[in-house]
Amino acid sequence: MSMRNLHNALQLKQLMLLKQMGYAWTDMQPSDLENEPADLPYSLTALNKLVTDCHLCTLSKSRRRSVFGEGDEHAEVMFVGEGPGATEDSTGRPFVGRAGELLTRMIENVLLLPRSRVYIANIVKCRPPSNRVPTESEALTCRPYLFRQIELIQPRIVVTLGATAYRYLTNDTTPISRIRGNAISMPAYTLIPTFHPSYLLRNPSAKKAAFEDLKKIKAMMESAAH
Ligand code: URA
Repeated sequence: MSMRNLHNALQLKQLMLLKQMGYAWTDMQPSDLENEPADLPYSLTALNKLVTDCHLCTLSKSRRRSVFGEGDEHAEVMFVGEGPGATEDSTGRPFVGRAGELLTRMIENVLLLPRSRVYIANIVKCRPPSNRVPTESEALTCRPYLFRQIELIQPRIVVTLGATAYRYLTNDTTPISRIRGNAISMPAYTLIPTFHPSYLLRNPSAKKAAFEDLKKIKAMMESAAH
């Protein structure tokens, strides 16, 4: 088979998979993906299986393991990051590298919860090579998995970590430095954007602001409990 035929066959396979997920066939642009409902399972276990075997974008070619997400399936608070890094790619678990250690400390020390009581996931489930930012097409192709995770877990609060998570959950590109700490009403939950822990590792002076954002989340959790 020539390279060109192989390329065409692979593209056709991708389109068939997309059709199975509920996407439209014709003239598909990233902007179309945004509004297409995906025909995905209503069970985290079945969804996880689909993600494990997913080959809908090129990230699947270089990943070692896909990273579905983990935590309390009835969590009140869900954290959403950008995409797996090297440690996540080799373990299949979200936020377990250096950034993950910081996130875990923030959850435990400010929310006063064990990490297992929140849910943690990402915009893309496979590691972008060299930890680059996922492309728009990768993010929009993968996003239906996250939407269904949120629908199933039904968190009251979704905390977006960094610019990518905020952008793809709101379709807004306001810089994180301006929007962080705001409580944004989404139809089914309140979204709080904050800095990504990797950014905090590179810019320790921003930790104070992130601490304030988590304090705000803690206060929201307490006021809901009364
Ligand atoms: N950074 C992310 O955005 N997600 C992870 O899972 C790990 C690092």
